[in-house]
Amino acid sequence: GGSHVRSTLKGAESGIAAMAACYQRFDPASYLKYNYTPPRADFERKDSIVPWKLACLHRAFTEGDVSGELLVDIGSGPTLYQVLSGCEVFNKVILTDFLEINRQELRRWLRDEGGYNLDWTPYMEYVCKLEGRRYAWSEKAAKLRKVVKDVLPIDVHCPQPMAPDALPSGGADCLVSSFCLESVSPDLAAFNRALGHIGSLLRPGGHLLLIGALDESYYLGGPGVKIPVVPLNEAQVCASLKERGYTLMRLEVYTLPQDMRVGVDDVTGVFFVKAKKV
Ligand code: SAM
Repeated sequence: GGSHVRSTLKGAESGIAAMAACYQRFDPASYLKYNYTPPRADFERKDSIVPWKLACLHRAFTEGDVSGELLVDIGSGPTLYQVLSGCEVFNKVILTDFLEINRQELRRWLRDEGGYNLDWTPYMEYVCKLEGRRYAWSEKAAKLRKVVKDVLPIDVHCPQPMAPDALPSGGADCLVSSFCLESVSPDLAAFNRALGHIGSLLRPGGHLLLIGALDESYYLGGPGVKIPVVPLNEAQVCASLKERGYTLMRLEVYTLPQDMRVGVDDVTGVFFVKAKKV
């Protein structure tokens, strides 16, 4: 009856509130160091996780089917790597995050103010190389600074995750989201709903490029800041996409080599999905 529905909703809300509380202790500098320096970002190694992600994104954006005006990155965090390929295809890119501290980190880089916590140069060099060295990394930086139009707040647990006037009414032409939904959701049901919520930001026929962790139960958002993660398997990711109105076009899986398991999380693999909104 009604009281059961109410208590279920309350349960969902408290799980989400607990996640939001965890994120108040998120430290961008530590997170960047844990995940975006060697061995996880070793551009000399083909089996390093960051080069794998960059290659997946490069391929997805150069296959010819992803196009339009506006690309939105969901839960950008303090990172820029996930839009380095997309910024060549879209004239407008919007970055988003739940935390002001992450939005500030991104703005410092975009405004070229200095004081940011990671040097993105090797990332830009690597993506330029994937693109056939058509540009120097400095041109990639200039391009990114030109096309990123805004860095906006988002909450994927809200049915309307962004401010009502943040995006054009038809929605974005493409969404990218990396390691966001599973690392902000208290359980699979919340992950599922979040996938539906972000779909409302995407136009019908638009693409979703989703990158995430497999079998992960926590990661460190800073020293001693253990953030719980919904452990996902490939079948669950596919089922959620289908349930929330996406057609799966490609799923790729990366398995973490033993020496990339450096104690900052318990992830065993990473999935990359290219999907289309029905
Ligand atoms: N996309 C980046 C990457 O690939 O490394 C960051 C991923 S980080 C694991 C998860 C991000 O989700 C954090 O930046 C955090 O601030 C953000 N976040 C936390 N709660 C959120 C929410 N309710 N809605 C959207 N993003 C949220």
